[in-house]
Amino acid sequence: MNAPVVPETLKTIRIPNKVIIGGEAVSAASGKTFDCISPIDGTVLAQIPSCDAEDVDRAVKAARAVFEGGAWSMAAPRKRKAVLKKFIQLLQDNAEELAMLETLDVGKPIANSRAVDIPGSISCIEWYAEAVDKVYDELAPTGPKAVAMITREPLGIVGLVVPWNYPLLMAAWKLGPALAAGNSVILKPAEQSPLTAMRIGEIALEAGLPAGVLQVLTGFGETAGQALGRHMDVDMIAFTGSTEVGKYFLKYAGESNMKHVSLECGGKKPNVVFGDAIDLDVIAKQTAADVFYNSGQTCTAATRLIVQEDMHDALMEKIKALGDSWQPGNPLDEKTAMGPMVDKTQMERVLDYIDIGRNEGADIALGGKRVMEETGGVYIQPTVFDRVDNKMRIAQEEIFGPVLSTITFKDEDEAIRIANDSMYGLAAAVWTRDINKAHRLARAIKCGVVSVNDVDGGDITTPFGGYKQSGIGRDKSLHAYDKYTQLKTTWITLS
Ligand code: NAD
Repeated sequence: MNAPVVPETLKTIRIPNKVIIGGEAVSAASGKTFDCISPIDGTVLAQIPSCDAEDVDRAVKAARAVFEGGAWSMAAPRKRKAVLKKFIQLLQDNAEELAMLETLDVGKPIANSRAVDIPGSISCIEWYAEAVDKVYDELAPTGPKAVAMITREPLGIVGLVVPWNYPLLMAAWKLGPALAAGNSVILKPAEQSPLTAMRIGEIALEAGLPAGVLQVLTGFGETAGQALGRHMDVDMIAFTGSTEVGKYFLKYAGESNMKHVSLECGGKKPNVVFGDAIDLDVIAKQTAADVFYNSGQTCTAATRLIVQEDMHDALMEKIKALGDSWQPGNPLDEKTAMGPMVDKTQMERVLDYIDIGRNEGADIALGGKRVMEETGGVYIQPTVFDRVDNKMRIAQEEIFGPVLSTITFKDEDEAIRIANDSMYGLAAAVWTRDINKAHRLARAIKCGVVSVNDVDGGDITTPFGGYKQSGIGRDKSLHAYDKYTQLKTTWITLS
């Protein structure tokens, strides 16, 4: 681990330190800031504005003014598309800078920022920009005495409150449809990951988005996030984050103006492997990649490996053998597969869960320790628990680190029971060569996405979101576009 890497990179990159309100890059009204710390080695990258209710109010006023003025909300879809295409072009032109900011900020391997997060974010916004002038409204099947039009209208002012694990990508899943539909948007990134959001706020202005259409407020959840959630003139909150905070937004809406709330929350993915599954090498490789990718900080990480007894030993051996390729390293090195945790708090939380698992009686088959402490960064080994009971806390609670829990089952009924024995219902995977069993499991598992013979299927064309306490509403696909609009019926009686 080479400590000078971060300072070297800092020589060539400008770290944004302003928020975007009403078309201008400004500081928080209070002048307060907080440290942006790189988890790679503890370097303080910048002082970030710590926005609160006053800044939220300024942003909402700017958003309302432009929304009612109609420069964006009433622009022809084709015109919004043209401006968004310019925005997309500028994002592409700045892709390397965005990738570097993401990696410095959250410790994501640079190879992933370059190949997944940044291009995935840009192509998501592009997909909605391309769709917006191809979505038609409806005429109701009335009798000849009336014409009833069912039209979609933008909701108004939408607050996007997003997490730190895929900072730009989670924002893009919401920005794409919200902007394409004509809303004015206030993006609040997580306090751990403000940089790419701030940068795209600047780029949006350069692209010609009218002032107030895309604003970016940095700050803490309890101040900036809560003020957005409780604001009387915000029409919708689209949230991605923990189930606990998701519930706060329902409360904020209930105690303020009954704003729309969509929630993408936590998960504890069951990854069910039957004895008749096809290729153990593929399953082992995909399982390890799914649970260790992004240091396990993924809502759909396959954290519960639910394997049929006769397959257990062979699969465990293969997964353990793959552990070496997931040892953490400096994320600025193109070859690193797994970087640090996002911050010290998250690292300590994961280490606590590893202790909890040990004390609950699960076996540590791999890893379990902090490493590379001398770098000043926050790194944890890929960790595998074996002989886990699904009732244990490590199988029930979202750890959000590179930690796999292995649970065995005897038959199909038991597999379904264990898979569904969770407060979460975000995503699941099933491995079998029996097509009938695959369909039975896909129907029986209470999750928003079930992948068969794949650990994590889906793309921008398919809805993504949770059953149970994994959330309300869907991101991605045109179903997500719908949620940023409201339907109006215009009934015309003909004489
Ligand atoms: P978090 O809930 O702590 O924070 C998410 C956002 O909410 C941040 O912007 C934060 O500042 C804000 N916030 C925190 N407390 C708040 C409060 N009291 N009032 C208002 N806003 C508040 O989540 P996190 O730690 O940033 O992210 C990890 C979580 O996100 C995990 O649970 C993960 O499963 C979930 N996640 C879900 C999806 C999905 O699509 N379902 C995707 C990515 C992450």
